[in-house]
Amino acid sequence: MKVIIVGCTHAGTITATQILKQHPETDVTIYERNDNVSFLSCGIAVYLSGDVGDPDAMFYSSPEELAQLGANVHMQHNVTNIDPKTKTVKVTNLVTGEEKTDHYDKLVDTTGSWPIIPPIDGINSDHVFLCKNYHHAKKLFAAAKDAQRVVVIGGGYIGVELVEAYTRQNKDVTLIDGAPRMLHKYFDQKYTDRIQQQFKDHGATLAFNQKVTAFKDHDNGVTVETDKGSFDADMAILCVGFRPNTDLLKGKVKMHDNGAIVTNEYMQSSDPDIYAAGDSTSVHYNPTGKDAYIPLATNAIRQGTIVGVNIFGNKMRDMGTQSSSGLNLYGTTMVSSGLTLENARNAGIDAESVTIEDNYRPEFMPSTEKVLMTLVWNKKTRQIIGGQLMSKYDVAQSAGVLSLCIQDKHTIDYLAFVDMLFQPNFDRPFNYLNILAQAAVAKADK
Ligand SMILES: Cc1cc2nc3c(=O)[nH]c(=O)nc-3n(C[C@H](O)[C@H](O)[C@H](O)COP(=O)(O)OP(=O)(O)OC[C@H]3O[C@@H](n4cnc5c(N)ncnc54)[C@H](O)[C@@H]3O)c2cc1C
Repeated sequence: MKVIIVGCTHAGTITATQILKQHPETDVTIYERNDNVSFLSCGIAVYLSGDVGDPDAMFYSSPEELAQLGANVHMQHNVTNIDPKTKTVKVTNLVTGEEKTDHYDKLVDTTGSWPIIPPIDGINSDHVFLCKNYHHAKKLFAAAKDAQRVVVIGGGYIGVELVEAYTRQNKDVTLIDGAPRMLHKYFDQKYTDRIQQQFKDHGATLAFNQKVTAFKDHDNGVTVETDKGSFDADMAILCVGFRPNTDLLKGKVKMHDNGAIVTNEYMQSSDPDIYAAGDSTSVHYNPTGKDAYIPLATNAIRQGTIVGVNIFGNKMRDMGTQSSSGLNLYGTTMVSSGLTLENARNAGIDAESVTIEDNYRPEFMPSTEKVLMTLVWNKKTRQIIGGQLMSKYDVAQSAGVLSLCIQDKHTIDYLAFVDMLFQPNFDRPFNYLNILAQAAVAKADK
């Protein structure tokens, strides 16, 4: 069987690896327009902050490694057309300009996503940067060496990580966002108020409730104009979201309105010979039971593995996602899984939430830290549908426990009393998640 994989960062790399480990006899042909595979963009902020010196260490595979597994790897090859009727692709070699047609039995679309670039005057300025891949990371690093004034546009998790990284480099950083606060899709206001104070304490300017209207180049940088004011900068970085990179399959397979490929639970598109994984697809979002566009590496590698199995016959189901994610900002861990109360109500769910703050371990220990935590549940079923945690203590893995509870439709009553380890170094006789769920039960039973 011949499998063509279009695009090879996370979803493509994992798909190829999975296929060749289980079925090394398969003809796996990879076309990737870039000159590298498997770059962990998740590491860009730690590279820019100076915490990690070498972006070349942020790859976990390589074209050579995939070739050694048996793949025909064609780097710097751009797929320009897919014809599902003849099961062929057109490809341009970006180095020589040569064009060719190739044939597949099964095609895997792992073409991912690209940053949204709104039609704003002057957006093509040399001082306006994107943040998505290895080459962007290198450009951002180089430009920041001579830059003191940095403007970041977009207060989602990528934008705020960049603001944190550059303030820790003692740069003058402004964050612009149309929303009234940062990270509002993931955290309640109590959380964002606290972290915003830390950003201000580190010298960041937070310019919320305003939209960028123009970028004006001048001799020593760019002026970012908004509907409320203007900000001079040496460099501006656009972080306003991602859109699925799926033009190749437009009109050929079923897509959502934003262009994300619709798949069944086996990651198969509406064309049975075309599978898709990663940022080019939607995910099944368990907290609402509906499809959603959640571009995360976690989803890409899970879905890529599933495609690698199902190419030989659909047997592995995707179990969906809770969109669990986390941040470390100025030494504070912030994690979330599933819905906030606001998002739940916007999705039409009759939901309730509780927020408490407690020390993660007993006060008699030499030190302890407070954990701010929230649980969201469906009032009718008492099922957990979301949660958030914030602490100077590393509570990151607790988001995994919440994720599991949402995935398996556990109730607040279950989490309140489920067995968790106790040892004073780590927690209290009741783990802080038990205590959080007990507060939820008390509120629900009032
Ligand atoms: C700064 C940053 C931080 C992030 N942090 C996190 C994090 O902490 N945790 C997390 O889970 N996720 C994180 N993400 C998201 C994560 O990086 C993406 O979800 C992930 O990269 C998706 O992988 P993918 O393989 O589906 O797509 P992509 O990474 O978009 O890769 C698609 C590939 O397809 C290639 N391609 C596209 N079209 C063609 C074509 N026509 N021909 C040939 N090749 C083509 C592209 O060159 C690219 O290499 C972060 C992303 C960014 C940008």
